[in-house]
Formats: sequence, structure tokens, C-alpha cells
Amino acid sequence: MAAQILPTVRDERGRALRDLRISVTDRCNFRCVYCMPKEIFGRDFAFLPREQLLTFEEIERVARAGMALGVHKLRLTGGEPLLRRGIEQLIGMLVALRTADGEPPDVALTTNGSALAVKAQALADAGLHRVTVSLDSLDDATFRAMNDIDFPVARVLDGIRAAREAGLPVKVNTVVKRGVNDHDIVAVAEHFRGTGVTVRFIEFMDVGTTNGWNLQAVVGSAEVIDRIGAVHPLEPVPPAYPGETATRWRYADGAGEIGVISSVTAPFCGACTRARISADGKLFTCLFATAGHDLRALLRSGAPDAAVQDALAGIWARRSDRYSELRTAGTPRAQRVEMSYIGG
Ligand code: SAM
Ligand code: SF4
Ligand code: SF4
Repeated sequence: MAAQILPTVRDERGRALRDLRISVTDRCNFRCVYCMPKEIFGRDFAFLPREQLLTFEEIERVARAGMALGVHKLRLTGGEPLLRRGIEQLIGMLVALRTADGEPPDVALTTNGSALAVKAQALADAGLHRVTVSLDSLDDATFRAMNDIDFPVARVLDGIRAAREAGLPVKVNTVVKRGVNDHDIVAVAEHFRGTGVTVRFIEFMDVGTTNGWNLQAVVGSAEVIDRIGAVHPLEPVPPAYPGETATRWRYADGAGEIGVISSVTAPFCGACTRARISADGKLFTCLFATAGHDLRALLRSGAPDAAVQDALAGIWARRSDRYSELRTAGTPRAQRVEMSYIGG
């Protein structure tokens, strides 16, 4: 496989760098209760000023540096990445990059789907390979309450339809919060069963400091599988590649697959090959990091690409993160960066 002949920089735990998640904005039109609670991300919240955001050229340079070190997956995220003007142009720049063995990177995007009905065709035309749409409930009232801006679920479903019509493979991410949307798990699974769209149910995580996380609100993946499997029997599927974050299950009757991402109940730090770059150019080696490494200053100092690559390699080589493996209900959460900033 391509990954075996890619160049490799290893961290202190022997993990290679293979995925780069790129946050293109810290802004979002939604205020999902588990991510950007309204009380914190209100009118007065200080989002990054425009000049602090990496330009598309700067993002491309970071991606190129990562790819020289073995990155072959790039994911655009945020905040809401479709709010970044001209995102299609960035996608075009990224799909034109090549890994050390001459392969194009796998370029994906995670979105809340609110603008997808309008943008799907342009994204596909720009060369985007696939899209992940976050959709927490099919029940309109529940969905409106979770995004907390009263956004109707039908418009996200329109977006998913438009993406599929544009030829983009679609996955759906569903964050499950006990007492909020867990009543809807089976309905979400059933809606996409047999359609070719894989739903991944994500355990509510303790990212950041503002989302009021507690262990009682987490619905473990085992429970999700039990609930869906009781209605539509499921069988485990072996991982598609080492380090896959989602555990895969298929419907026994052949109607497709679902996945579960068990960051809380079954952490996968041992296989974590992922770095994140915030919209203002800080590199984070863990979703739960308290600080990032500033690459923007280097990018703007006139340093050559080789220097960016060396900086990235050095940061990765010193990485030892395994937060989820160490987490307990009592783990202090002070100072941790927010997911909307670091990029989920
Ligand atoms: N705005 C885009 C979206 O919602 O798809 C992209 C950014 S969002 C931060 C990326 C993913 O992180 C989404 O699928 C979201 O549901 C997930 N997420 C956000 N906060 C989370 C939390 N506390 N626990 C688990 N997943 C979370
Ligand atoms: Fe916005 Fe995505 Fe966070 Fe929801 S999960 S508030 S859509 S960034
Ligand atoms: Fe990777 Fe950090 Fe998540 Fe562990 S907790 S899987 S090291 S991002």
C-alpha cells in the first residue's frame, strides 16, 4: 500500500504522521451545544481577525511540508469550513499536490451541511474527494435544539442529497449525547441504511473547557451497537487500514455499514497519526492539547519550504500525546483549546 513506501517521521511512541486536519476558520453559523455553547460563543466572542488566518498559499505550504513527511490525508474543517470564502480554490490547490511517491492526497471536508446544497457542485468541481456531514438527529426539534440556532434538519438533508448528486461520497457524523439525541440513534441509522452513506456515531468528548462535558452524558459505542443491532443485526468488519478511528460494523442483511468512534470508552491513541493546524497556523499534536506550535511566524518570515518541513518534523518527533488513554472523569480541563478553534 502507498502508506508503506511513504517517507516516515515517527513520534516518541513510534507513530507516523499521516493525516493533517486543517482548520480554515474558527467561525461557525451553528452553536452546537457540545461544541460552541451560545453562552460562551456569543456576540462578544473574539474570533480571529482575518489577517491572523493562514492564507490559502500558507495552508498549501504546510500541507506540502506534511506530505513530504508522509501525510497522505488532508481534511478541511473548522469552525464551519464552508464559511471560508473561496474554499473551492483551496481545494483545487490541495488536490494538485503530490505525495513523495507521486500520488494525490486524499482531500476531504467536514461540514455542518448548512451550505452544502448551494456549494456541493462547486466543491466537487474543485476536485474534493469526499465529504463528511455532521447530523445529530433526524428529529427536527432535536436537531434545532442541538445546533441551537433553530436550523431545520431538512436543509442539511438537502445538502447531503446535493453532495451525492454531485458525485461526492458522503459520510455522516452523529455525536450522541445522553438525554439529548440518544432516542434518535436507530432512526438515524435507519434513514441511511441501504443508501451507501455510512453513519459514524461519535462519543461525546471532553474537548475544550466550555461544553459542560461529564461522563454521564456519554453514550458508549457498545450501547449504540446494541441498540441498532437489536433492530437490524450487525457484524463487525475488520479495519480498512491500521489506525482507523471508527470501528466498523455491517448490517447482516447486506444493507451497508455503520461506524462508531469511541474516543472515550476505547481510546485509539496508540494508532493516532494525526496532526491539526488551527486557522491561525498553530500545529497541535493532539485534540486535547493545551498549546500549539506556531508555524505562521515561520511561514511569514520568508523561510524556505525546507525550514517549514524541518519544523514540522521536529514537532512531530517530540510528540508523546495519548490524552484519551489517560483520561478519567476527574481529569482537569483547564486551558484546553476549543474544538471549533483547533478543528475537529
Ligand atoms: N463545523 C463542521 C461540522 O460540524 O462538521 C466541522 C467542525 S466540527 C468541530 C467537526 C466534528 O467535531 C463534527 O462532526 C462535530 O460533531 C464534532 N464534535 C464537535 N464537538 C464535539 C464533542 N464535544 N464531542 C464529539 N464530537 C464533537
Ligand atoms: Fe459549528 Fe461544527 Fe462546532 Fe457545530 S460542531 S458548532 S457546526 S464547528
Ligand atoms: Fe490522538 Fe490525542 Fe485523540 Fe489520543 S487523544 S487519539 S493522541 S488526538
